[in-house]
Amino acid sequence: MSAQTPQRIPQDFIDTLLDRTDIVDVIDSRVKLKRSGRNYTACCPFHKEKTPSFSVAPDKQFYYCFGCGAGGNAIGFLMELEHLSFPEAVEELARKAGMDVPKQDQNLSPAAIAAQQAKTQARNQAYDLLEQANAYYQKQLRQHPQRKQAVSYLQGRGLSGQIAQRFGIGFAPTGWQNLLDNLGSTESAKNALIDIGMAVKKPDNDRVYDFFRERIMFPIRNSKGKVIAFGGRVLGDGKPKYLNSPESAIFHKEKELYGLYEARQHNRDLKRLLVVEGYMDVVALAQHQIHFAVATLGTATSQFHLERIFKMVSEVIFCFDGDAAGIKAAVRAMHTCVPFMTDGRQARFLLLPQGEDPDTMVRKHGSETLTELIANATPFSEFLFQHFSHDLDSHNLEHRAKLATDMMPVIQAMPKGLMRSMMLSKLEDHTGLNQDTLAQLTAVSDKPDIDNKESSAQPKPDQSTLANSKDAEEPVAAGNSETDLPPDYVLNDQTWATEYHPEHNQHSPTNSHQPSHDHGFDHRHGSRVQNPAQAAIRLILRHPGLAEAYTEIPEHLRYLRMHDASILVQLLEICQQVQSQLQRVPQAVELQSECADLEAWPMMRNLASLESLTVTTDHSSQLQEAIDKLHHHYFDQRFDDLSQTLRNATSDEHINTAKQQLKILLGEKETLQKQQKSR
Ligand SMILES: [Zn+2]
Repeated sequence: MSAQTPQRIPQDFIDTLLDRTDIVDVIDSRVKLKRSGRNYTACCPFHKEKTPSFSVAPDKQFYYCFGCGAGGNAIGFLMELEHLSFPEAVEELARKAGMDVPKQDQNLSPAAIAAQQAKTQARNQAYDLLEQANAYYQKQLRQHPQRKQAVSYLQGRGLSGQIAQRFGIGFAPTGWQNLLDNLGSTESAKNALIDIGMAVKKPDNDRVYDFFRERIMFPIRNSKGKVIAFGGRVLGDGKPKYLNSPESAIFHKEKELYGLYEARQHNRDLKRLLVVEGYMDVVALAQHQIHFAVATLGTATSQFHLERIFKMVSEVIFCFDGDAAGIKAAVRAMHTCVPFMTDGRQARFLLLPQGEDPDTMVRKHGSETLTELIANATPFSEFLFQHFSHDLDSHNLEHRAKLATDMMPVIQAMPKGLMRSMMLSKLEDHTGLNQDTLAQLTAVSDKPDIDNKESSAQPKPDQSTLANSKDAEEPVAAGNSETDLPPDYVLNDQTWATEYHPEHNQHSPTNSHQPSHDHGFDHRHGSRVQNPAQAAIRLILRHPGLAEAYTEIPEHLRYLRMHDASILVQLLEICQQVQSQLQRVPQAVELQSECADLEAWPMMRNLASLESLTVTTDHSSQLQEAIDKLHHHYFDQRFDDLSQTLRNATSDEHINTAKQQLKILLGEKETLQKQQKSR
C-alpha cells in the first residue's frame, strides 16, 4: 500500500490527449508500420510471427492483432509494449503532445500554468540537447583528428564498430569548450547544458566549460531509448576513471539501468537480466552474444531497479567481482531482493574469481564459460544461507541459535508463499529447531519475556501493536529490532562484536544459569553485546553517572524504529527522574531497582550483569560511540523513509520536498561525521 493514492487523471484530459495523439506515430516510432490500404500493418510486437497480422486503423485510432487478439488505443499500446502503468503511459503521450497531466486540484494561476509550460519546454530542450550531444560525440569518434586513442582503446577491448554503434559509443575530445562551441550558441542552450550536467559553471568566475573531456562516451538511455545522461571513461590516467552525468530533472541514477533499452531492442521478450557493475561489462558481454546484461550507474542495486527488473523478467542474476567490494554489493543486493521474492521469481548470485570482472572473463574465457557460470549461479536461498552461516559452526548449539535469530526476520520479510515456506523448513533443517521454536525465537527478540516480571502496571500500547503486526499481512514486522538494523550492521561491527563475555561464551545456552525456555533470549542478549543500543543500556546501568551528559535526550533515539533504542530512551528518562528525586547521581543498584518493574527489565538485567573485557575505562566515550552509531542508524532509516516517499511521490512537488529533506539529511550526516573525526 502506498502512502499516497495516485491522483485521478480527469477523463476530459485523456480525451484531449488522445485527440492530439496519432496512434500511427506512436506505434510507428516503435514498430515499423507498412501501409496497407486505409490501415497499417506490421509483425505483431506482442507475439512471435513471420507474416504480419498486426493492424493499425488511423481513422479509429485503434490497433488490433488478428494473431493474438491484442488491441487497444495508444495508451494501451504503450502500457503493453513498454510495461508502463496507466499514468506513466498518459505521462509519456502527454509529454510528446506538449501537455502537462493535470493533478486533481485544478485551480492553477496563469503564472503556475506558464511555469509548467516552461518546465515542459525545458524538458524537451534537455532531451534535444542530449540527443545532439550524442550525435556530436559519435561523430568525433569517426572524424576527430585525435580519435585514434579512443578507437584503439575500444579495439583493445575487442569491440567491433557495429557494437560501438549499437550502444552509441562516442568520443569527447580534449579541450574545455568543444560541446559548448557546438551546442551552446544561445544563452538558453548554454543554461540548459548546465542544467543537464553537460557543462559546468565555475562559481567564482562564471566561466563555463564542458563536463566531459577526453573520454570514451557511453550514452545512458531511458527505457524508451531517449538519451538522458552520459557515462564517460577516461582515456589515459585522469581521474575519476568513470564519470557519470550528475543527477538532473530527467536523470535519476538510482532508477536507471544502463543497457536495458539496448537489451530490449535486441530481444523484447527477455527472460532474465544479468546485473553487472560497469558499462564496459555490458558492452563487452553484448559483443560476446550475451545480450541481457544491464549495469547500475555507480549505485547499489535499489528497490527501484528491482521493481523495473521484475516487471519485465522473472529472473535476475547479480554478477559481481569476487573481491570484498563485490561481495558487499552482492549481499546488499540480496537484502534488497528479500521483499521481492514472490513465488516464480528467482534471484541468483555469481561472484567471479578474484581480479576478474565480466569484461575480462568473457574476453579471456569466452562466452560459453561465462554462460555456464551464469547458469550455475547460486540461487537466492542458498546465497542467503551461505551469508548467514559462513562463520558459524553447525555443531555448536549457540551458533545454530544465532543462525535462527539472524535469519528469521529476513525470512519473515519475504512475501508469503512456497519460497518462504521452503526457506523456513530449510532453516529448521539447519538449526534442528522446529517452526514453533523458530517463531518463539523471533517473538522473544521482539518482546523480552515477562515471566519474571512482578507487575506490569500499564501495558504499553506500542507493544501490543507490535505483536499484532506480526500476524498481519505486512511483509516487514515494524519495530522488530533485528529487521530494522541495516543488513550487515552487527556482522561488520568490529568494535562491539569483539566485546566478549567469557562467562557466557564458555557455556552453551542450555548449560547456562538461564532457564532453558528462554535460551534464544539468553543467546541474543547474553553472549555478547550485539547492538549499540544494548551497549549504551549496559554502560548506563553500570555507570549511571554517564547519563548526565544526555539530559537532553538526542532526538534521533526517539525516531528510531528499533525496540532497544526505545528502551534506551526510557532508561535515560528514568535516570533523570531518579537524579532529580535524589538530587545526586544514583548508584547503579538504585538505578537498577528503579528499572526492575519495566517490561524490558529481564533483558536489561542480563545486560547489566555483563562484565566487559575491554580494557578501556573511558566509559563516556564508549557511550558516545554507541550513541553516534545509533545516529548513523537513524540516518539509514531516514534515508529509507525518504526513498520510500520518493518512490510513492505522485507530483513533482512531493519529489522536490523529499529531495530537499534528503539534502538536509546529507548535510546533517556530514556534520556528524566531522564531529566524530574531531573527537
Ligand atoms: Zn499479436
